[in-house]
Amino acid sequence: MKNLIKNLSDVFFKENLTCNICHKETFNGEYFCEDCQKALEALQGGAYCLTCGRRTTIPTVRCFSCKENWQVDMARSAFSYDGVIKNLISAFKYNENKYLANVFTPFLEKVYVSEKFDSDAITFVPMNSERLFERGFNQSQTLCEVLSKSLNIELIAPLFKKNEVKKQVGLTAKDRAMNIASSFGYLDKNIVKDKKILLVDDVLTTGATSGEIAKMLKKQGALSVSLLTIASVKSLDI
Ligand SMILES: [Zn+2]
Ligand SMILES: [Zn+2]
Repeated sequence: MKNLIKNLSDVFFKENLTCNICHKETFNGEYFCEDCQKALEALQGGAYCLTCGRRTTIPTVRCFSCKENWQVDMARSAFSYDGVIKNLISAFKYNENKYLANVFTPFLEKVYVSEKFDSDAITFVPMNSERLFERGFNQSQTLCEVLSKSLNIELIAPLFKKNEVKKQVGLTAKDRAMNIASSFGYLDKNIVKDKKILLVDDVLTTGATSGEIAKMLKKQGALSVSLLTIASVKSLDI
């Protein structure tokens, strides 16, 4: 089944015949060469926080990073945001590398299953139309489109992002939080009621954006909002 989905999505996305990280030719039909495979594996294990999923020194129920202002019910990430995965995620910001969604999703699926996520609908972090025009696609949405098919979960778009938001660079933490709080609007207010929502994104950093989205969805009756990301920055407990 997985292969069938992969083959189907291959029709829509360009694929590389070389290692997706170091671009060495592979000929093995895999996404990565052996060395990069090992480097990726090293970023997958380790202790993590049971609330925010960030890597910690020892298993923790609630770490320092998610002690305050944490709105998401459960968050998990496939990788620690470090080394090779950083480069791979940066490459995913370019339209010509949209196919990388196919590379990331098996890792996300694995975490979804092993961490016993249970979701009625899947959604993404909206991008405003100006940004979308610049970039050509929303990487969070692309991940959701592929995952929605492979996990067989309904894809919904309850929110949109406003255009007039000031740039985050140079703002204080408080101003940033306020800026994020006013940056989303509802596209469909009724679509999340009584649903367990899965939010998917590329990286968990401060958690401010996912937190704001979780707050807005719960306000409209979402039962829970879980977050699944490709990678997350290490916890302050490390
Ligand atoms: Zn490689
Ligand atoms: Zn935590």
